[in-house]
Amino acid sequence: MENKSSTELITLGTAAGPAIRGRENGMASAVVVNNQFYMVDFGLGCVRSAHEAGLRGKDFKAGFITHLHSDHVAEFPAFLMWNWGAPVEGFAHPISIHGPGQDANHPLGTKLSGTRGLVDHTLEAFSYDLNIRVTDEARPVMSDLINPVEIALPQTSATEPFLVYEDDHVKVTAVLVDHPPVHPAFGFRFDTADGSITFSGDTAESATLAKLAYDTDILVHEAVNLEFFASRGFDAAFLNHQQQSHTTPEGAGRVATASGAKRLILSHLAGVATPAEWAAGAASTYAGPIDVATSGQRFSLVADTTYATI
Ligand SMILES: [Zn+2]
Repeated sequence: MENKSSTELITLGTAAGPAIRGRENGMASAVVVNNQFYMVDFGLGCVRSAHEAGLRGKDFKAGFITHLHSDHVAEFPAFLMWNWGAPVEGFAHPISIHGPGQDANHPLGTKLSGTRGLVDHTLEAFSYDLNIRVTDEARPVMSDLINPVEIALPQTSATEPFLVYEDDHVKVTAVLVDHPPVHPAFGFRFDTADGSITFSGDTAESATLAKLAYDTDILVHEAVNLEFFASRGFDAAFLNHQQQSHTTPEGAGRVATASGAKRLILSHLAGVATPAEWAAGAASTYAGPIDVATSGQRFSLVADTTYATI
Protein backbone atom coordinates (compact mmCIF):
# COMPACT_ATOMS: atom_id res chain seq x y z
CA MET A 1 0.00 0.00 0.00
CA GLU A 2 1.31 3.42 -0.84
CA ASN A 3 1.89 5.66 2.13
CA LYS A 4 -0.20 8.79 2.22
CA SER A 5 2.30 10.84 4.16
CA SER A 6 5.81 10.79 5.45
CA THR A 7 7.76 12.38 8.25
CA GLU A 8 11.52 12.43 8.44
CA LEU A 9 13.98 13.58 11.08
CA ILE A 10 17.36 14.84 9.89
CA THR A 11 19.98 15.40 12.57
CA LEU A 12 21.76 18.23 10.77
CA GLY A 13 24.26 18.80 13.56
CA THR A 14 24.87 16.81 16.72
CA ALA A 15 27.70 18.48 18.63
CA ALA A 16 27.39 20.59 21.75
CA GLY A 17 29.33 23.82 21.68
CA PRO A 18 30.72 26.38 21.50
CA ALA A 19 33.95 24.37 21.75
CA ILE A 20 34.72 22.38 18.61
CA ARG A 21 35.91 18.91 19.59
CA GLY A 22 35.34 16.94 16.40
CA ARG A 23 33.94 16.97 12.88
CA GLU A 24 30.23 17.07 13.69
CA ASN A 25 28.19 20.20 12.99
CA GLY A 26 26.70 22.22 15.82
CA MET A 27 23.23 21.57 17.15
CA ALA A 28 20.39 21.65 14.62
CA SER A 29 17.68 19.26 13.48
CA ALA A 30 15.06 19.30 10.74
CA VAL A 31 11.63 17.69 10.72
CA VAL A 32 10.41 17.13 7.17
CA VAL A 33 6.69 16.51 6.74
CA ASN A 34 5.14 16.05 3.32
CA ASN A 35 8.03 17.97 1.73
CA GLN A 36 7.71 20.92 4.12
CA PHE A 37 10.37 21.34 6.76
CA TYR A 38 10.78 22.78 10.22
CA MET A 39 14.05 23.61 11.96
CA VAL A 40 14.84 22.96 15.60
CA ASP A 41 17.83 25.16 16.49
CA PHE A 42 20.38 26.73 14.18
CA GLY A 43 23.85 25.73 15.40
CA LEU A 44 27.20 26.03 13.67
CA GLY A 45 27.18 24.34 10.26
CA CYS A 46 23.41 24.04 9.92
CA VAL A 47 23.25 26.13 6.73
CA ARG A 48 25.49 23.86 4.68
CA SER A 49 24.15 20.73 6.36
CA ALA A 50 20.55 21.66 5.53
CA HIS A 51 21.50 22.45 1.95
CA GLU A 52 23.35 19.15 1.55
CA ALA A 53 20.28 17.35 2.92
CA GLY A 54 18.31 18.86 0.03
CA LEU A 55 16.39 21.34 2.14
CA ARG A 56 15.55 24.66 0.47
CA GLY A 57 13.98 27.78 1.89
CA LYS A 58 10.97 27.55 -0.45
CA ASP A 59 9.86 24.55 1.64
CA PHE A 60 10.70 26.08 5.04
CA LYS A 61 7.64 26.57 7.26
CA ALA A 62 8.85 27.52 10.73
CA GLY A 63 11.81 27.51 13.09
CA PHE A 64 11.88 26.55 16.76
CA ILE A 65 14.62 27.66 19.15
CA THR A 66 15.01 25.59 22.30
CA HIS A 67 17.01 28.27 24.12
CA LEU A 68 19.35 31.14 23.43
CA HIS A 69 22.76 29.61 24.14
CA SER A 70 24.87 30.54 21.11
CA ASP A 71 25.57 26.95 20.06
CA HIS A 72 21.84 26.70 19.24
CA VAL A 73 21.45 29.93 17.26
CA ALA A 74 24.91 30.81 15.88
CA GLU A 75 23.91 30.32 12.24
CA PHE A 76 20.38 31.66 12.51
CA PRO A 77 21.25 34.87 10.58
CA ALA A 78 23.05 32.92 7.83
CA PHE A 79 20.21 30.41 7.60
CA LEU A 80 17.84 33.28 6.78
CA MET A 81 20.20 34.89 4.23
CA TRP A 82 21.01 31.62 2.47
CA ASN A 83 17.36 30.54 2.19
CA TRP A 84 15.71 33.81 1.14
CA GLY A 85 14.16 34.56 -2.21
CA ALA A 86 13.96 32.94 -5.65
CA PRO A 87 17.69 33.14 -6.56
CA VAL A 88 18.50 30.54 -3.88
CA GLU A 89 15.21 28.59 -4.08
CA GLY A 90 14.47 30.38 -0.85
CA PHE A 91 11.36 31.42 1.01
CA ALA A 92 9.17 34.12 -0.48
CA HIS A 93 6.29 33.30 1.86
CA PRO A 94 5.75 34.15 5.54
CA ILE A 95 7.67 32.07 8.07
CA SER A 96 7.53 32.08 11.83
CA ILE A 97 10.36 31.75 14.32
CA HIS A 98 9.29 30.46 17.74
CA GLY A 99 11.59 30.72 20.72
CA PRO A 100 12.20 32.05 24.22
CA GLY A 101 11.20 35.52 25.24
CA GLN A 102 13.39 37.63 27.50
CA ASP A 103 14.63 36.05 30.71
CA ALA A 104 12.46 37.41 33.53
CA ASN A 105 14.76 35.79 36.12
CA HIS A 106 17.87 37.62 34.96
CA PRO A 107 18.73 40.96 36.63
CA LEU A 108 19.43 42.46 33.19
CA GLY A 109 16.60 40.50 31.57
CA THR A 110 14.79 43.40 29.94
CA LYS A 111 18.05 44.60 28.38
CA LEU A 112 18.97 41.21 26.90
CA SER A 113 17.48 39.91 23.66
CA GLY A 114 14.82 37.26 23.45
CA THR A 115 13.78 35.73 20.13
CA ARG A 116 12.19 38.94 18.90
CA GLY A 117 15.40 40.83 19.61
CA LEU A 118 17.43 38.14 17.86
CA VAL A 119 15.29 38.52 14.74
CA ASP A 120 15.07 42.32 14.85
CA HIS A 121 18.80 42.81 15.43
CA THR A 122 19.65 40.33 12.67
CA LEU A 123 17.52 42.33 10.24
CA GLU A 124 19.18 45.53 11.42
CA ALA A 125 22.73 44.16 11.30
CA PHE A 126 22.27 42.97 7.71
CA SER A 127 20.10 45.90 6.60
CA TYR A 128 22.47 46.97 3.84
CA ASP A 129 22.49 43.55 2.16
CA LEU A 130 18.79 43.01 2.79
CA ASN A 131 17.96 46.31 1.14
CA ILE A 132 20.30 45.98 -1.81
CA ARG A 133 19.12 42.51 -2.77
CA VAL A 134 15.50 43.71 -2.83
CA THR A 135 16.26 46.46 -5.32
CA ASP A 136 19.05 44.69 -7.22
CA GLU A 137 17.73 41.10 -7.34
CA ALA A 138 13.98 41.57 -6.87
CA ARG A 139 13.94 39.58 -3.65
CA PRO A 140 10.99 40.01 -1.28
CA VAL A 141 11.39 42.28 1.74
CA MET A 142 12.60 39.90 4.43
CA SER A 143 11.11 41.81 7.34
CA ASP A 144 7.66 41.41 5.76
CA LEU A 145 8.06 37.62 5.80
CA ILE A 146 9.50 36.83 9.23
CA ASN A 147 7.25 36.60 12.22
CA PRO A 148 9.11 36.16 15.51
CA VAL A 149 6.95 34.52 18.18
CA GLU A 150 8.14 34.56 21.76
CA ILE A 151 6.63 31.47 23.34
CA ALA A 152 4.18 32.33 26.13
CA LEU A 153 4.95 30.41 29.29
CA PRO A 154 2.20 28.28 30.80
CA GLN A 155 0.20 30.12 33.46
CA THR A 156 -1.33 27.22 35.31
CA SER A 157 1.08 24.33 35.51
CA ALA A 158 4.78 24.35 34.75
CA THR A 159 4.85 20.60 34.24
CA GLU A 160 2.12 20.03 31.65
CA PRO A 161 2.91 20.15 27.91
CA PHE A 162 1.44 23.19 26.15
CA LEU A 163 0.70 24.04 22.53
CA VAL A 164 3.25 26.17 20.66
CA TYR A 165 2.31 25.82 17.00
CA GLU A 166 -0.10 23.98 14.73
CA ASP A 167 -0.67 23.79 10.97
CA ASP A 168 -1.93 21.21 8.47
CA HIS A 169 1.19 19.07 8.89
CA VAL A 170 2.30 19.27 12.51
CA LYS A 171 1.30 20.04 16.04
CA VAL A 172 4.17 21.29 18.20
CA THR A 173 3.93 21.15 21.97
CA ALA A 174 6.52 22.11 24.56
CA VAL A 175 7.56 21.93 28.16
CA LEU A 176 9.98 23.99 30.18
CA VAL A 177 13.10 21.92 30.74
CA ASP A 178 15.77 22.31 33.37
CA HIS A 179 18.84 24.10 32.00
CA PRO A 180 19.93 26.55 34.71
CA PRO A 181 20.73 29.38 34.67
CA VAL A 182 19.18 29.64 31.20
CA HIS A 183 15.47 30.48 31.32
CA PRO A 184 13.30 29.77 29.54
CA ALA A 185 14.61 26.59 27.90
CA PHE A 186 12.21 24.34 26.02
CA GLY A 187 11.80 20.75 24.94
CA PHE A 188 9.63 20.37 21.83
CA ARG A 189 7.44 17.57 20.54
CA PHE A 190 6.28 17.30 16.92
CA ASP A 191 3.18 15.19 16.25
CA THR A 192 2.34 14.39 12.63
CA ALA A 193 0.06 11.92 10.86
CA ASP A 194 2.98 9.48 10.96
CA GLY A 195 3.93 9.64 14.62
CA SER A 196 5.95 11.84 16.92
CA ILE A 197 9.46 13.16 17.47
CA THR A 198 10.44 14.74 20.79
CA PHE A 199 13.50 16.95 21.31
CA SER A 200 14.97 17.35 24.77
CA GLY A 201 16.72 20.63 24.09
CA ASP A 202 19.42 21.18 26.69
CA THR A 203 18.33 19.90 30.06
CA ALA A 204 19.25 18.12 33.22
CA GLU A 205 17.46 14.81 33.63
CA SER A 206 13.82 15.89 33.51
CA ALA A 207 10.61 14.19 34.58
CA THR A 208 8.71 16.97 32.81
CA LEU A 209 10.44 16.09 29.56
CA ALA A 210 9.51 12.44 30.10
CA LYS A 211 5.90 13.61 30.29
CA LEU A 212 6.21 15.50 26.99
CA ALA A 213 7.81 12.43 25.40
CA TYR A 214 5.12 10.02 26.63
CA ASP A 215 4.85 7.13 24.16
CA THR A 216 6.82 9.09 21.52
CA ASP A 217 8.21 7.32 18.47
CA ILE A 218 11.59 9.05 18.60
CA LEU A 219 13.21 10.83 21.53
CA VAL A 220 16.17 13.00 20.54
CA HIS A 221 18.02 13.54 23.80
CA GLU A 222 21.17 15.43 24.69
CA ALA A 223 24.06 13.76 26.51
CA VAL A 224 27.19 14.85 28.33
CA ASN A 225 30.29 12.81 29.11
CA LEU A 226 31.16 14.13 32.57
CA GLU A 227 34.23 11.91 32.87
CA PHE A 228 35.73 13.56 29.80
CA PHE A 229 35.60 17.02 31.37
CA ALA A 230 36.63 15.82 34.84
CA SER A 231 39.66 13.95 33.49
CA ARG A 232 40.91 16.97 31.54
CA GLY A 233 41.05 19.44 34.38
CA PHE A 234 38.14 21.74 33.50
CA ASP A 235 37.49 24.10 36.37
CA ALA A 236 34.87 23.53 39.04
CA ALA A 237 32.36 26.08 37.73
CA PHE A 238 32.39 24.53 34.27
CA LEU A 239 32.03 21.01 35.66
CA ASN A 240 29.21 22.18 37.90
CA HIS A 241 27.33 23.63 34.90
CA GLN A 242 27.70 20.37 32.99
CA GLN A 243 26.40 18.44 35.98
CA GLN A 244 23.49 20.70 36.88
CA SER A 245 22.29 21.58 33.38
CA HIS A 246 22.89 18.51 31.24
CA THR A 247 22.14 14.78 31.25
CA THR A 248 24.42 11.75 31.23
CA PRO A 249 23.76 8.98 28.68
CA GLU A 250 22.44 6.89 31.60
CA GLY A 251 20.04 9.73 32.45
CA ALA A 252 18.88 10.01 28.83
CA GLY A 253 18.17 6.28 28.92
CA ARG A 254 16.15 6.68 32.12
CA VAL A 255 14.03 9.43 30.53
CA ALA A 256 13.48 7.26 27.44
CA THR A 257 12.38 4.37 29.65
CA ALA A 258 10.13 6.56 31.82
CA SER A 259 8.41 8.04 28.77
CA GLY A 260 7.99 4.77 26.90
CA ALA A 261 9.87 6.20 23.90
CA LYS A 262 10.16 3.67 21.09
CA ARG A 263 13.60 4.86 19.96
CA LEU A 264 16.32 6.96 21.58
CA ILE A 265 18.65 9.13 19.53
CA LEU A 266 21.53 10.76 21.38
CA SER A 267 22.47 14.17 19.99
CA HIS A 268 24.02 17.39 21.34
CA LEU A 269 26.97 15.31 22.50
CA ALA A 270 29.17 17.23 24.96
CA GLY A 271 32.67 15.91 25.49
CA VAL A 272 34.34 13.18 23.52
CA ALA A 273 33.49 9.47 23.52
CA THR A 274 33.16 6.72 20.93
CA PRO A 275 29.67 5.94 19.58
CA ALA A 276 29.85 2.62 21.43
CA GLU A 277 30.65 4.39 24.70
CA TRP A 278 27.78 6.90 24.32
CA ALA A 279 25.34 4.09 23.49
CA ALA A 280 26.53 1.80 26.29
CA GLY A 281 25.66 4.38 28.93
CA ALA A 282 22.12 4.76 27.61
CA ALA A 283 21.73 1.01 27.07
CA SER A 284 22.35 0.43 30.79
CA THR A 285 19.03 2.16 31.55
CA TYR A 286 16.98 1.74 28.34
CA ALA A 287 16.16 -1.48 26.50
CA GLY A 288 14.95 0.00 23.19
CA PRO A 289 16.93 0.88 20.06
CA ILE A 290 19.59 3.59 20.50
CA ASP A 291 21.35 5.66 17.85
CA VAL A 292 24.28 8.00 18.38
CA ALA A 293 23.43 10.62 15.79
CA THR A 294 25.83 12.00 13.20
CA SER A 295 25.40 15.13 11.09
CA GLY A 296 23.04 14.59 8.17
CA GLN A 297 21.65 11.27 9.43
CA ARG A 298 18.02 10.58 8.47
CA PHE A 299 15.29 8.74 10.38
CA SER A 300 11.87 8.03 8.88
CA LEU A 301 8.47 7.80 10.42
CA VAL A 302 6.05 6.12 8.04
CA ALA A 303 2.28 6.17 8.29
CA ASP A 304 0.52 2.81 8.09
CA THR A 305 3.66 1.04 9.21
CA THR A 306 1.84 -2.29 8.97
CA TYR A 307 2.11 -1.94 5.22
CA ALA A 308 5.41 -0.13 4.98
CA THR A 309 7.50 -3.13 4.01
CA ILE A 310 5.10 -4.59 1.41
ZN1 LIG B 1 22.48 25.19 26.39
